[in-house]
Order: sequence, then C-alpha cells, then structure tokens
Amino acid sequence: PLRHSTLLDDVSQAASIKQNNRVYELKAAGADVITLSLGEALFDIPMPTLDELGPDAHRYSHSLGVQLLREKLAKYHEQTSGTPVDPDGEIMVTAGSKSALYMTLLALVEPGQEVIVPEPMWVSYHDQVRLCRGVPVAVPWDGTVEDLAALITPRTRAVIVNNPHNPTGRRMSAAELLRLHELADEHGLALIADEVYSEFVPDDAPCAGTGTFDPGKEHTIVCNSMSKNFGISGWRIGYVIAERQLISQLMKLQQHMITCAPTILCHYLAENFETVLARTRPQIRRMVGLRARMAEAFAARGVACLPGDSTFYLFPSLGSSRLSSTEFADELLRRYRVSVVAGLAYGQSCDRFLRVSVGAEPEDRLLRGIHAICDLIE
Ligand code: PLP
Repeated sequence: PLRHSTLLDDVSQAASIKQNNRVYELKAAGADVITLSLGEALFDIPMPTLDELGPDAHRYSHSLGVQLLREKLAKYHEQTSGTPVDPDGEIMVTAGSKSALYMTLLALVEPGQEVIVPEPMWVSYHDQVRLCRGVPVAVPWDGTVEDLAALITPRTRAVIVNNPHNPTGRRMSAAELLRLHELADEHGLALIADEVYSEFVPDDAPCAGTGTFDPGKEHTIVCNSMSKNFGISGWRIGYVIAERQLISQLMKLQQHMITCAPTILCHYLAENFETVLARTRPQIRRMVGLRARMAEAFAARGVACLPGDSTFYLFPSLGSSRLSSTEFADELLRRYRVSVVAGLAYGQSCDRFLRVSVGAEPEDRLLRGIHAICDLIE
C-alpha cells in the first residue's frame, strides 16, 4: 500500500466543512435540509460577466495580488482600522483568509513552539498549528487576558486573536486588546488577528481591530477575507497585512503553493470594490439584527447561548440533553433534516454546545430549525 506521511495522523477533517458536504449530498439527492451549519452569509451582490474583463484577467498575476486590489484593500483597512498600509509590501492577497492564516503560521512557528488559542475556537486553528508541527494551547474564551498570560512559556510563539469571535460572536474590548499587545511586547509574541467577521458588529458597537494598537505592525499580523464581509466565500479571496519582511516571506510560500489568488475574481473585485461593499453593508446590518432575534428565540425556549452580539453565529447549550454534540447533530439531521455543527469541533470543552449559523436561511426556516433544536433538547 502507498505509505503516507505521519504529518496528517493527528489532523481531522474540518468538522463544519464535513457536515456541509453531507448537506450538499443530501440536497443533491433531493432532500430539503434547513442548513444552519454553513459558515457563510447569503447576500445579494452584483456578479461579474466574464466579457467585461480584459485579457489580463485570465492569466497569472503578481503573487502579492493584483495592484489595484491591493490599493483598494489597503485603503479599506486604513478606513476601518485607522492603520495605514503600504499596498507595495505590507499586504498580500491570498486564497481566502484560511491560506493567509496557514502561511502566517508556517512562516512564524518553529517545530514544538506553542500557539495560544481561545476555546471555543474556529475549527482549523488546532489543525493548522499541528500541520506546522506546532503545539496548540487552548485558553478559555471567557477568561481574562491574565488567564492567557499564565499560559505563556518560553516556547510560546503566537496568540490567535479571532475578533469578533466564531462561534460565540463575542467582541474583545479595547482594554483587553491593549493588554495583549503589552504581553506581545514583553514576551516577543506575534498576535495573529483573524478579523474575517469585522463588519458583522452591531451599529452602536464598533469592534476595535487588533492592529489599531500596533500601527508599526511590530507584532501584529492581520488576516481578513472577502468571504464573509463581502459575501463572496466561493471566490476564495483573502489578504494578510504585516510588516514588509514577513510579507516577503509569505510571498515565497504563496509562489510555491498557489502562485497568486484567482486573478479573474481579483480584477473584478478591484473594479467593483465600492459597489460590492455598498451592497453588502446594509445586508450585514440586517443579519446582525436577525442574529439578535434568533438568540431571543432560543432564550424564549429556555436555551442559553454563550454571550456575544456579533458575527452570524450562535453557540447554544445542549442543556439537559443526554446526547453528545455529535450525536445531537446527527440525530437532528436524521430526524428533523436540520443541519448544525457539533460543538466538539470547537474544542474538547465544547461538547455541550452546537454551532448555529443564521447566515444562509430565511427567517421562517431559521425559526423552524431553532424550534427543532429546542424540541430535541427537550
Ligand atoms: N477564520 C474564521 C474565524 C472563520 O470562521 C473562517 C471561515 O469559516 C475562516 C477564517 C476562513 O474563511 P476564508 O478562508 O473563506 O476567508
């Protein structure tokens, strides 16, 4: 038999994607599934026609990203976080933030070094760190920054700061972020800021970006993406902002891994950046409101969600159900044709929770799905 590297022995499939693959298969077979497992928001946005793009759009492009898109992204970052970015050297366009995060970890982490991640945590952090031969270290998400400080060892290399947070929707306060920066300075740590939900915050509660407190980019690497904030997850466009030396290291990885982000979509996005953003922003506002109403729907049935007001996710507790989160998600899909992600995917401490997305179904179907969850808990 073909022998495989041991690298993947401890790595599992991304549980949310695995669950959604099941949904795609069921739907292809004609089933009607209420899908609360998708990590994307379905927005109405203008779509490209291929013939409006010039011939360059069909070719490879600069491995840092199409120039005009880098310029637009640098300006967007400056407007939203107050930190200037040089489009020629401090930003690289990537294939989604997932590749930005992975390349960043590859560029920073030596084998055996530790990366601290608040738990619950997005499903890929653990495995990406392991793929880099690093060691993920979980810290409870609802603890203080001092709890995190207590986990810092001489082997600690980085902290992943997912803000706003998937799956709880929690936002970090400016004071917490400032304290993280102090720790980063003191211990020579990198702060890897995953800000893919940066637009999904309530109107009156803007979210401070991690990089805002480190304008010189001395230890902050910001990873963001068009997947959620621009509603174009399938285009696979993300970006990373960091100091120049790290960007040139990341560019080497990009050249060897994918050459460049999808040129054609980058061209289209660059040309239509403001139009797409103007179309998604009001839809995002409505979705953040929808999230709040769905949290109330859970509460009205006596089901508590972990506190948070941002993103388009809820993390409800399984309460008195005797099922594990994986059994619960399986049973919910089998019996009610409602798809959610088992909490266990977000960390060992999360087996009493489910991850529910309100991004991809209309309100009446969301409510049906939520009532099915509450019925099964009861
Ligand atoms: N980071 C977080 C917290 C996410 O939830 C996701 C997707 O679900 C990603 C990163 C990756 O998204 P993408 O690669 O589409 O930018």
